[in-house]
Amino acid sequence: MARNSSSVYVHLPFCDRICPYCDFAVVEFKQERVARYLAALHQELASCPQPAAVSSVYLGGGTPSAHTQSEIASLLAALFAHFGIERGSVECTLEANPSRNASALAGFRAAGVTRLSIGVQSFEDLELLRLGREHSARDAKTFVTAARKAGFANVNIDLIAGVPDQTSASFARTLERAIACESDHVSVYALTIEEGTPYANWFARRPERFPNDDRVADLLEQAESTLEEAGYVRYEISNYAKPGCESVHNLGYWRQQDCVALGMSASGYDDGLRYRNVRGFEAYCDAIERGGSAREDEERLSTQARIGEAAMLALRTREGIRDSDFRDRFGIEARSFFSDAINKCRQAGLLEENPHGVRLSPRGRLLANTACSEFLHPSFLPAPAGLGQTTS
Ligand code: SF4
Repeated sequence: MARNSSSVYVHLPFCDRICPYCDFAVVEFKQERVARYLAALHQELASCPQPAAVSSVYLGGGTPSAHTQSEIASLLAALFAHFGIERGSVECTLEANPSRNASALAGFRAAGVTRLSIGVQSFEDLELLRLGREHSARDAKTFVTAARKAGFANVNIDLIAGVPDQTSASFARTLERAIACESDHVSVYALTIEEGTPYANWFARRPERFPNDDRVADLLEQAESTLEEAGYVRYEISNYAKPGCESVHNLGYWRQQDCVALGMSASGYDDGLRYRNVRGFEAYCDAIERGGSAREDEERLSTQARIGEAAMLALRTREGIRDSDFRDRFGIEARSFFSDAINKCRQAGLLEENPHGVRLSPRGRLLANTACSEFLHPSFLPAPAGLGQTTS
């Protein structure tokens, strides 16, 4: 993956039903809305800048797999033409929900999708019910099998740790089934209670139903030991892959590569400029239909902020902060630049050093947010000689 290449993220916000814990930018699936949104997306794409090279395409949501085969084919054809991508030459991920449309998977693959990311969440029917999911454990297994039959060689399964009433025994069964499905990649996310969701109300009324932070940490450790024993490598805090099956798109994000973002709420990165499109469906469609831009927020990061963010993202990965990488990208000695943060985190047992750089220790992976925040805002540090304050 060349450093000067870019990824492309497209947000497809439609879901059949909104899950009670979900805080993503989603809208209920209605065909007239879909037609309007896709027309706006195609229009936004037509005026979107073209990076020199694209290393991955990611259709996220929402539930992109709920779209018809022809909608996905037409969207991908437009994306490939606009960015000069030869079909099949770059990783192209589609997020999928196992509740329906397994019969469309072969068509998605023919259209250029190379990787599926399936929102299984749990292989326990009671937990799926509590999560408000529309599919059963059997549906999930059938969907993964259908993905294989459709010829997908790279399949991810998303799982949630911290589901109400989840036990280490029930989580063990879910992990075992994910492994038995021979998924190439497993993402394990801790459930977060987002303000304003039905889950936030439930949590306020019955907090005892939700595993506390210590219990969730235990579940995440359980995921690490079970998945690593099964041959998966934890290459990022929440992500495990069989060797060679790491997500190119996600690696690009953690390596702070540019990302072109399309669709409502999508956020992108362009050589130090972070931007985000408006979150609402109406606002997004209106802005594009009026011939304007859907961009709502823009922030030009100072060089120091870029370095801090690069460190924070790198720390999430197995590689951690590599001295040579920071020398090449920013012309700095990372261990001197971050000496205060490194000392503090090392003393707390959150970091380990090696000849190539520093990375999170097992304890640091459990307290990743604490460790990363020490690196994220290095502006209190003096700028090293020869380092500009901004890139704009
Ligand atoms: S399917 Fe995924 S994106 Fe859609 S509402 Fe549920 S959690 Fe949110």
